[in-house]
Amino acid sequence: MPRGWHTEPMRDLARLPKAHLHLHFTGSMRLSTLADLAARHGIRLPAVLLDDDPLHVPADERGWFRFQRLYDAARACVRGEDDMRRVVAEAVEDDAAEGSGRLEIQVDPTSYAPFVGGLTPALEIVLDAAREASAATGVDVGVVVAASRMRHPLDARTLARLAVRHAGDGPGEVVGFGLSNDERRGDTEAFGAAFAIARRAGLVTVPHGGELLGPAHVEEVLEHLRPDRLGHGVRSAEDPRVLDRVVAEGVALEVCPASNVSLGVYPADQDVPLRALVAAGARVALGADDPLLFRSRLLDQYETARTVHGFDDAELAALARSSIEASRASDDVRARLLRGVDAWLAQEPGLTAAS
Ligand SMILES: [Zn+2]
Repeated sequence: MPRGWHTEPMRDLARLPKAHLHLHFTGSMRLSTLADLAARHGIRLPAVLLDDDPLHVPADERGWFRFQRLYDAARACVRGEDDMRRVVAEAVEDDAAEGSGRLEIQVDPTSYAPFVGGLTPALEIVLDAAREASAATGVDVGVVVAASRMRHPLDARTLARLAVRHAGDGPGEVVGFGLSNDERRGDTEAFGAAFAIARRAGLVTVPHGGELLGPAHVEEVLEHLRPDRLGHGVRSAEDPRVLDRVVAEGVALEVCPASNVSLGVYPADQDVPLRALVAAGARVALGADDPLLFRSRLLDQYETARTVHGFDDAELAALARSSIEASRASDDVRARLLRGVDAWLAQEPGLTAAS
């Protein structure tokens, strides 16, 4: 695709209604907030965490270790109810500014539980903050409870039961159950029981898979966890048979291009197989994953689709539509956002930016 081919006026992507389905609680934090919380709690942060440069690591164990170490350092700055509420409120404010009308934010309440008296209060605080933020911004916020591959599968079951108790499709309710952390760790099959609990209760199932590992692991996740959506799943593009299966089973892919490049999965933006996935018929929802570390938010993913992958406005609108359709927003929210996408596309280019 030739560079600089967008000479005509363009529609403002910040005004394109979209759903944000892959954002982690800690990873959503503003850099300024991280610095502020660290100072407040007397925590010395690794200098690289406060740099303006995005994280860039090789896609191996060592790279992941660096990522995880920085992530843990950031997480350690969130110590109690006020901090937790602030993280949620700011994540939603930032999403609102980028045209997100539906956010499904992932949280593993385990790390915050010690500060607030247990897992249940930790989740309740996030849900309550999500409800308040929904009312304040108009972004409809659902919560995904995510278990970690680094812990025992029984912990995942405990979290799945907790998630089920708070299930609902209204703002500040639990919509889904996920599984995060290093994809190469833990036995995928052993987490099947936790996912069965979530699925029976009608939660959307959204494990990570197909980012650090290839199509064979995508199949393993499909087999044992029966996901509605895959966190990433981009590497199913490496095997047409697996990609066909993803498409045939209607599994949506939460594609986070900046994350893929930061974690060394692909050398550069243009290597992310966004075009191939969309062309194969995959339902794609662009997400930011951990903007704190990747220095790239939701809007940046759409900008990359436009400038690097050459998506035109109709194709960008289709991406937004697909994110909304893959969300667990209630029927009325979904219908409102989809109408907004149509209205965005119906407007004359160039007229939206200044209005
Ligand atoms: Zn993620």
